[in-house]
Amino acid sequence: MSPAAPHAHDDVEARVLAVIARAMDRPVSDVTPESSLEEDLGAQSLDFLDIAFSLEREFRIQFPRTDFLQRASDHFGEENLLKDGVVTPFGLQLLALGMPEIDSAKLKSGLRVAELQKMFTVATFIRVVRQLLESKAQMDRLCPNCKTEMTESNALPEFICKACNTVVPVPSGDDVLFRHLLAVEQEARNSRAGAS
Ligand SMILES: [Zn+2]
Repeated sequence: MSPAAPHAHDDVEARVLAVIARAMDRPVSDVTPESSLEEDLGAQSLDFLDIAFSLEREFRIQFPRTDFLQRASDHFGEENLLKDGVVTPFGLQLLALGMPEIDSAKLKSGLRVAELQKMFTVATFIRVVRQLLESKAQMDRLCPNCKTEMTESNALPEFICKACNTVVPVPSGDDVLFRHLLAVEQEARNSRAGAS
């Protein structure tokens, strides 16, 4: 995309950029969806946590506690995704489908897991926030106890029934991530079936 043609940020994107700029103590003009957290913004592990917490507060969502590759390793067995610190072809396929914001040219054989973190861009956070907001929007708003329509809390990622005080948390980031992983697995299977 040419810098002469700036694309309009929608509300979610603009708020994510602002949160990340604040967390990294940078002017918001320094932060674009393509910015690498580590290489362009100098983020270290604690900054990733700080950004996740700040986005949770901003959007009243719950971030996953693990990243995509870690969750995939837990599910498929680490040996299927990593060999001596190098991402396997299956791991690369899952990453390409599951983290489509990563430049696919960088997902090459021989990719070391340590290099993967450098590929995390602001766009990764934007995608995760959108997924979490989408699953929140799809929640059943009726109280499971008395079927009254619940109200979203102003402070916490939860819904409250004003009639009977039942509290229902928004879908957890870990559940949303796992559903995303299963969808990606299905997509990977379909593309293998199509290729053979
Ligand atoms: Zn109720």
